[in-house]
Amino acid sequence: MTRERSPRIFRPRISFETNSRTAALQDASREAVSLQSRPVETNFRGLMEKVIIMGSGCAGWTAALYSARANLKPLVLTGKQPGGLLTTTTVVENYPGFPEGIDGYEMMTRFQKQAERFGARTQFGEVQAVDLGKEPFLLTVDGETLQTETLIIASGASHRHLGLESEHKLENKGVTYCATCDGALPIFRSKPLVVVGGGDSACEEAMYLTRFGSEVYLVHRRDALRASKIMSDRALSNPKIKPVWDSVVTEVLDVSQDRVTAVRLKNLKTDVEKTLDCAGLFVAIGHVPSTQIFRGIIDMDEVGYIIPKRGTATNIPGVFVAGDCADRVYRQAVTAAGMGCAAAIDAERFLAARNE
Ligand code: NAP
Repeated sequence: MTRERSPRIFRPRISFETNSRTAALQDASREAVSLQSRPVETNFRGLMEKVIIMGSGCAGWTAALYSARANLKPLVLTGKQPGGLLTTTTVVENYPGFPEGIDGYEMMTRFQKQAERFGARTQFGEVQAVDLGKEPFLLTVDGETLQTETLIIASGASHRHLGLESEHKLENKGVTYCATCDGALPIFRSKPLVVVGGGDSACEEAMYLTRFGSEVYLVHRRDALRASKIMSDRALSNPKIKPVWDSVVTEVLDVSQDRVTAVRLKNLKTDVEKTLDCAGLFVAIGHVPSTQIFRGIIDMDEVGYIIPKRGTATNIPGVFVAGDCADRVYRQAVTAAGMGCAAAIDAERFLAARNE
């Protein structure tokens, strides 16, 4: 089925009016419908946003919903993948409130509509640069400069890929990056499945998949798991999980059939190659948080996950964070949505406190 994926585009109203009285009147009318702004020194005459939300996944849209209902008229910058990671999955069956499950793309469209119903605005585009060194914060989006009093970073994370051409071609046709999202699909039922990775995620995914697959091969490039002891022990003691040590996937078969039928494995110690029949390949080799442009500005760990200071507040007052870009543990749609809600409340309280 072909989906309409073009996002709705609402450009924020930018005025390059140089007359300060007119600008002041515009400010006054905006203040009538939202919280009072603190006067800010700026060379720009563009619209000053109260809240910009960077990212349009579960965290971003939930932050938008809450800040829209607080009358802050948030501007959501979609990022290069509108709707975030969930739009790449098929059926989401673990988000409360959808007993029959819901298509990931459909779910994110509903999130967007709900936020827009209360006044959230959407702008398609990716943030290329940020200046958070002074207020207002400046964001460069497709060459345009936006200014805002608060920023909620909900830029998400992407699954790390193996980087194989066949992997790319069979994505969502048996190759997946989320067992919790896709494991229960009929194509995987009672069939051999392969998980790649040696961390907690791979162990967790492998254990989850034992509910559905006939057996689960855990392919790891070394001979010892990176996962925590408890997770390793659980995975390795599960009779349905069969470790394949010192091995990497070199090809996913069968592109010509447009579905996964097997993987080609190479033992790194012996260089011996073999083919392992399977109906699904679950890649669990870590995530890459989408936080590169904040390096050296916002506190983050060595991988790039943003470390909040208190609640969702970052080391820069007025900048908040929510969702997968700050979550290296749970990474679920419902936890991201919860953080988005918290970030919106924190931003609203920040604006209210400074204007008291
Ligand atoms: P991770 O700990 O970084 O593990 C990634 C695994 O993938 C490693 O075993 C790594 O191999 C392997 N790998 C990386 N690149 C690869 C490649 N190109 N080809 C083949 N293998 C590759 O990532 P994670 O498992 O997603 O866990 C991330 C964090 O979340 C961790 O702190 C983890 O504890 C936490 N987490 C916790 C839970 C839980 O407690 N329930 C569940 C999930 C995640 P090497 O070992 O050789 O480097």
